[in-house]
Amino acid sequence: MTDPSTSSAAELDAADPLANLRHEFELPEGIYLVGNSLGALPKAARTAIQTEVDRWATLGVEGHFTGELAWKNYHELLTQPMAALTGTHSDEVVAMNGLTVNLHLLMVSFYTPTPQRHKILIEAGAFPSDHFAAESQIRQRGFDPATSLITIGPRDGESVLRTDDIVATIAEHGEELCLVLLPGVQYYTGQVLPIAEITEAGHAVGAMVGFDLAHAVGNIELNLHDDDVDFAAWCTYKYLNSGPGGVAGAFVHRRHVTNQDLPKFLGWWGTNPETRFAMATEFDAMQSVESWQLSNAPIFQMAALRASLDLFQQAGGMSALRAKSEQQIRFFDRRLTESLGDRVENLSPAEMHQRGCQFALRVVSGDGRAVFEQLEHERVFCDWREPDAIRVAPVPLYNSFDDIDRFVDILDRIVP
Ligand SMILES: *Cc1c(COP(=O)(O)O)cnc(C)c1O
Repeated sequence: MTDPSTSSAAELDAADPLANLRHEFELPEGIYLVGNSLGALPKAARTAIQTEVDRWATLGVEGHFTGELAWKNYHELLTQPMAALTGTHSDEVVAMNGLTVNLHLLMVSFYTPTPQRHKILIEAGAFPSDHFAAESQIRQRGFDPATSLITIGPRDGESVLRTDDIVATIAEHGEELCLVLLPGVQYYTGQVLPIAEITEAGHAVGAMVGFDLAHAVGNIELNLHDDDVDFAAWCTYKYLNSGPGGVAGAFVHRRHVTNQDLPKFLGWWGTNPETRFAMATEFDAMQSVESWQLSNAPIFQMAALRASLDLFQQAGGMSALRAKSEQQIRFFDRRLTESLGDRVENLSPAEMHQRGCQFALRVVSGDGRAVFEQLEHERVFCDWREPDAIRVAPVPLYNSFDDIDRFVDILDRIVP
């Protein structure tokens, strides 16, 4: 048995049933540990995009209606694999737009403030785009972010959120709280938030609960339907490897998808495909989250995403990937402790159920920014987030234990 607390990287790689998937990717020269920011290129994405280019060349406009890859229905090819990754049903999930666009579209439907109930709860350290989206939604409805935007952060001297504090804040704002919008995985610290617990707390005070899953999807196991989440959105260019600007995902719980009373921005791609091309102006809504679609879909981006989602299926889904990820996290922890001791601190929570594959390393014994620049110089792909975190993410789909091992050796040499 290989054990990440005693075995070598070579032994762990040799015993890894998913090790071969690495060969399905084209990785830049160096050590690629930044799938939290931009996932690596699946080789099959090249072919999938080329196929669509060829279909465009040979079929022209007929490509919309021809064969299994007909562009009119192309997004449906992504539904089942995305549902599998998010723990949702096929009428609840759709690939469309960008992440921030989807947050806006979903807030149009699920942030419906009244003078009594008008607040949105987000985290104090929210990703700027999420903050801007919430703030501008509040203004758009005629409310004031100074009184309607509530934030929650870690306690002084702590780096991660406490569930008790989140639940208490939700209870405190109670009947004034219209929407809770939190991340599934915090982008800076990598902290996994308890989705079911937060959703329950929000619902208990009558609020809607939505999640930004940018750093969660493809990283941790998700059960959005059973966790009773109202809506969620995510990008796919991080752990889902769809390439720069890749098409995003959206989830709306089944109990809402056919509710035609929800306010919603409409477009022709949300109407029944049987009658869509009759060009009627009566909105004949699709009976699924697809009714939130506005425009015809970006096929090249979807082709890349499809190629990547095939690899998640080949891997055996998120439970298999998470099992490897936990091994990698344990191995990484051990190697850091062995080599760096307390010269480096990981801002991620200690408990496994609160962690995904991303580490947030803070250099205690020197200048973190300088260490990061030296890592870049040595072709270690990771990223720097102000104020002081080097984010590194061993991704179970394509990173090896050897990647982690070599990274720690380099870090050990650079950190004073
Ligand atoms: C990556 C990320 C975004 C990026 O938004 P786009 O609309 O895809 O540009 C937004 N929010 C969070 C939390 C992210 O991690």
